[in-house]
Amino acid sequence: MAGQRDPIAIVGAGPVGLVLSLLLARAGLPVALLEAGEDISEELRASTFHPPTLDMLDGLDLATPLIAQGLVTPTWQIRRHEDGARAVFDLSVIAADTAHPYRLQAEQWKLSRLILAKLHAEHRDAAPRFGCAVDALTQDADGVTLSGQGFEPFRAAFVIGCDGARSVVRKAMQMPFGGDTYPETTILATTPFDFQDVFDGLSNVNYIWTDHPAFSGTFSLLHVPGRWRASLHTAQGEDVEAALTPDAIERKLHAIHPKGTPYEVLDLRPYRIHQRIVGDYRRGRMLLCGDAAHLNSPSGGMGMNGGIHDAFELATHIASVWRGETDLTHLDRYTRRRRPVAEREIIAQADRNRARMRERDPARRAQLLADMQAIAGDPVRAREHLLRSSMISGLRAAAAIA
Ligand SMILES: Cc1cc2nc3c(=O)[nH]c(=O)nc-3n(C[C@H](O)[C@H](O)[C@H](O)COP(=O)(O)OP(=O)(O)OC[C@H]3O[C@@H](n4cnc5c(N)ncnc54)[C@H](O)[C@@H]3O)c2cc1C
Repeated sequence: MAGQRDPIAIVGAGPVGLVLSLLLARAGLPVALLEAGEDISEELRASTFHPPTLDMLDGLDLATPLIAQGLVTPTWQIRRHEDGARAVFDLSVIAADTAHPYRLQAEQWKLSRLILAKLHAEHRDAAPRFGCAVDALTQDADGVTLSGQGFEPFRAAFVIGCDGARSVVRKAMQMPFGGDTYPETTILATTPFDFQDVFDGLSNVNYIWTDHPAFSGTFSLLHVPGRWRASLHTAQGEDVEAALTPDAIERKLHAIHPKGTPYEVLDLRPYRIHQRIVGDYRRGRMLLCGDAAHLNSPSGGMGMNGGIHDAFELATHIASVWRGETDLTHLDRYTRRRRPVAEREIIAQADRNRARMRERDPARRAQLLADMQAIAGDPVRAREHLLRSSMISGLRAAAAIA
């Protein structure tokens, strides 16, 4: 029988595992957070925090220090590169719906580092154990035994897989990861060159159509402190290896703005995009959270935010089961609430965002732009659109599910 002293094991100290660890530790639950890496990953990934995520992080005293390290971004836009025509969405229309009516542009590792410091200061036992890679899990009715590299096998009351896209916890649960992978490779290039100096009315978040032959119809420009992230695509017929050469990157950046002198490129990262989701977030005493449970196109910046929302939902249910207030089946509420949001709001919305920006037909594009401008210009429709794209509608719908 698993005693109350068996901890709750969290596998993976990405942003989702770290948030969950802090939430459970604050609720007084014993946590063992295992991380395969030797430190917090500073890979180029999420750069956008949405309003409700900032509202949630505020409850952990993390919003203020995170905001201090990011760019408060009250508007975002969809733009046509060639003439600068744009639809600008202003988040002030949702000021009554959130304490943070803006997107915060900050790298995800900044949140991870803030949580790491907080765990060390306030809940040392729940801080990540780096260099611990879980590779086997076996569960019975009362608990789960974990083993792997860098730690002695131990038993946990629950295991929560926050171990990302290639989750070993998901595999141990024998949970198929249904969905598909998009054909294109995106290349993320960062540069300190300030595109706001050369493009009129550019926001910190810009999704851009272009006819330039260096691209396949679209690129995006996202601002984080001190640098811009350009998401570039291969030109028609161009292979990824060729697109990653310094000359090709230079050509693409000059296609965005021909500045005459070479661009300083700070980082370069190619990535593929998937849309996948598991059928159930729980099997017995093993659960999934964040990218381990669902993957979506980064268009709209929702993957990490949705994973953090998962963590907040799951923490309350785990705490109530742990305290004996409810039985194990109570945890099914977590799947009931979070899975539809991931499927219908996050994955579907990200897919629509991606499809919109990949439109190449000029007449269709003009119509899409006119539609978006009409929405942005109408306070009622803009509010509805922004509640959805800022992930507030999904959270409200989830909260209404028993
Ligand atoms: C280019 C790009 C841009 C993005 N932009 C945004 C954005 O703006 N907004 C947004 O919300 N999302 C964005 N995303 C998505 C976001 O990065 C992910 O959704 C987020 O990182 C998921 O967090 P996670 O903690 O679930 O998983 P991860 O960040 O993948 O963390 C998983 C952790 O588990 C560890 N791990 C894996 N296997 C094991 C094991 N066996 N044992 C122990 N540890 C293990 C890994 O080392 C890692 O530290 C973007 C993604 C990309 C690629």
